[in-house]
Amino acid sequence: MKNTSILSAFSQTIRLALLLLTITVFSCKKSENLTTALDSKVKVDSAIIAKIKALGFQTKGIIEFQEYYLVEGDIMISKKSLSSIKSPERLMSVGGTISQASTNNLISNINNHNINISVDASIYGDNTWYNALKKAVTVWNSTSNSNVKLNLIYTSLTDYSLDQTNIDITIKGDNNQLDFNTVARAEFPTYNGKPGSLILINLDVKNPFTNNYLNDGQAAWNVIHEIGHCLGLRHTNWETNDPPTSIGENLIAGTPTSDPNSVMNGSTGLSDYSAYTYPLLPSNYDAIAISTLYPVNNSSVVLPYISSNKYFSPGGEDYFKISYLEQGVSYHWRAIGINGTNYDETIGTFTADTTPGIGFPSSGNYQLQCTISGGKYTTPTTVTKNLIVQ
Ligand SMILES: [Zn+2]
Repeated sequence: MKNTSILSAFSQTIRLALLLLTITVFSCKKSENLTTALDSKVKVDSAIIAKIKALGFQTKGIIEFQEYYLVEGDIMISKKSLSSIKSPERLMSVGGTISQASTNNLISNINNHNINISVDASIYGDNTWYNALKKAVTVWNSTSNSNVKLNLIYTSLTDYSLDQTNIDITIKGDNNQLDFNTVARAEFPTYNGKPGSLILINLDVKNPFTNNYLNDGQAAWNVIHEIGHCLGLRHTNWETNDPPTSIGENLIAGTPTSDPNSVMNGSTGLSDYSAYTYPLLPSNYDAIAISTLYPVNNSSVVLPYISSNKYFSPGGEDYFKISYLEQGVSYHWRAIGINGTNYDETIGTFTADTTPGIGFPSSGNYQLQCTISGGKYTTPTTVTKNLIVQ
């Protein structure tokens, strides 16, 4: 189902080299007419079926198009690539395995694997991709044996008091930089132990089979995948999907020789996370992979941020966002007066990351406090933000 699209290994050359990876949705001629091809369905040659089977795909329901075969519903294998395969079984056995793999550079333990993701306005303003990002972050953070703590920082809110150097990853729309058939692109970790610093999302990419924009589940799949790259995971099907690169292909212990459900398989841009159980990673081997690279330290602490405006008018209201999302956590909000302002108000305990509207009755100096409890980290953590009402 979510297996490798072998075509990339053959029809693409080295454009994926260096430190950038792309997810290729398809590489056929977009103008090819699906209905015509289905109408003129002919029996696929048995030799072709054998080759497709040898590549590890299911052979039921193969559909032949002018330039490629469609297998398992959403994977295209170009005829050109198949005809050049002399011994496809070798492709599955070079080096012994296909496996979850990491890059040579990994993230150091600075800040206990707290990683800050800046949410650009282009993502914040797009419901599908914004919800996909929140879902993806929750999935990674909720992986019980992994120590990765992703925090969402809203740079589009007016008071951005966080030091820019504390931003690790920026996610934003591609501003038409990516090919029309590329969903997203991410960077790998750097030599100095920092996560890949950029995720570009092709906000107007379309499913070539339906001509629809990607749905919520597909968007979530892609954001989970791209964050995985920033954390040092390369494609699980790297051996057949990717051209040779110098980023490293360190097989991760405890993962199998192939994993069709891995969210880190390349050329899976049309895969749909909604077919899986939220907030689990699609494959348990993905969870093993990230947990092997970054084993959880339950007594370590989440370092969250509150994103919001800083200045208010008396009687005005605003919403506040907490940065850390994990299944099972709750957020307790309280506001107190500081610097001579007399005030103490319990706002409430919520499971959503955004507060209801919060306002203050009169001019003064206030401090908003949010305590995060629950989830896999045993120590509750409190973050504060000082506000000025004038
Ligand atoms: Zn990828």
